[in-house]
Amino acid sequence: MATSTRDMPLNGGHPALDFVNTVDSRRGRWGPDLLRCCDDLIVLAARVGLIDEKQAVILDQLAKRRPQQAGTLVEEAISLREAIYDLFVVEDTNQPYPDKPFAVIHERARRARARQRLFETKEGFQWLQPISELTDLVDLFAWQASELLIRRHERRPVRECKGDNCGWLFLDTSKGGRRLWCSNATCGTHARVKRFRRKADPQN
Ligand SMILES: [Zn+2]
Repeated sequence: MATSTRDMPLNGGHPALDFVNTVDSRRGRWGPDLLRCCDDLIVLAARVGLIDEKQAVILDQLAKRRPQQAGTLVEEAISLREAIYDLFVVEDTNQPYPDKPFAVIHERARRARARQRLFETKEGFQWLQPISELTDLVDLFAWQASELLIRRHERRPVRECKGDNCGWLFLDTSKGGRRLWCSNATCGTHARVKRFRRKADPQN
């Protein structure tokens, strides 16, 4: 079981989905919630490549200087995270996207886009967001969610892992497109063991 954003596996296949998966379980039980302080968010953003080391240091200093703002930021991050979950989980059952979560993501992504600048990087020119405020961090995840939505025609639907005590969202990029679990090594193995036990003892 993941205990923090430092050790949680990045199984989502996209930064917006790894962000959603900071609730360790959404099926069977809910939680634990791995977004408990600003540092959890900074660590995750760095791990999924949304910020570099220098930006992580700037944000860390900002959070220490403004603890109240850092606290509010975690609340904002959680409400954005739940909106991203509500928007993408419907792809698993092919339902229409709900309006409310879309509006939450749209508002923050719009702000992120307004602040982005075109930079030349090693990978060529890219829109990047300068980081000067703590709220920039939450907006970055909203922008990632909007990118995932825009690229719907280029990808398979987002899947929800059906593992006991899981419910993580992931992108299936496998060749056959029949991935059932966020991770074959954890949820996949649990399911196979359960199936084997049930076969061996149908009373179980
Ligand atoms: Zn899973």
